[in-house]
Amino acid sequence: MSRKPIIVGNWKMNKLNSEAEEFMHGVEAHLTGEEKADYGIAAPFTCVATCVKNAKHLIVAAENCNEKDSGAFTGEVSVPMLEEIGITYCIIGHSERRTYYNETNAACAAKAKRLFAANITPILCIGETEAEYDAGKTADVIKEELTGSLEGLSADEVSRMVIAYEPIWAIGTGKSADQTIAENCCKLVRDTVCALYDAPTAEAVRIQYGGSVKPTNIAEYMACPDIDGALIGGASLKVDSFLEIIDATK
Ligand code: PEP
Repeated sequence: MSRKPIIVGNWKMNKLNSEAEEFMHGVEAHLTGEEKADYGIAAPFTCVATCVKNAKHLIVAAENCNEKDSGAFTGEVSVPMLEEIGITYCIIGHSERRTYYNETNAACAAKAKRLFAANITPILCIGETEAEYDAGKTADVIKEELTGSLEGLSADEVSRMVIAYEPIWAIGTGKSADQTIAENCCKLVRDTVCALYDAPTAEAVRIQYGGSVKPTNIAEYMACPDIDGALIGGASLKVDSFLEIIDATK
């Protein structure tokens, strides 16, 4: 089966609306919609509407959501709110949210279920810390996070989602995982999906590598059989570097 690659920038808590608009114009001017990969941006809540308004070919994702539809949850944003403005993808379980805001596997599973009900594709992030990597626990972490975060999802839903394998020691550190580690871990993600579901689901799910991906190393990852794209933080902030990534992958 051929999976369409998907490359998504994660702006994190960066960019004002004026900057988001400038970025969207700068990147869209170089896209035709005929590219062989999907390209997108995950933006802070304050500028997702601006991004959607200026998107022609780029996917616009949110960086988080709440699994409840409404209520007394000060500071949270619900899936219907994202749906209303035309969001089509949403990151869940990013390591920064797991670390600083206690986002659990169970919360990821509930968010994913709610997103699918709104036809929004979850981008589920998983990955081990440096200490877990050093202790040889990477495979255990991948299996545990996947098992918990996919709980209650159907094979059909999982086949349509995106899973980003992001070793925490590689995020924002400049210390990217080498090609072999990245491929082996993404293959382990696929094998785990196969064990939890079945072979067609594992064949269909798109798996990204994330962690210090740059214009100079993206091609190495894209050449790997089990890597279907990338989730990119720092190198997605500037139009020039995001365009270089697009050029290296289209
Ligand atoms: C990320 O934010 O998910 C990420 C991988 O960041 P960076 O590319 O900066 O390491």
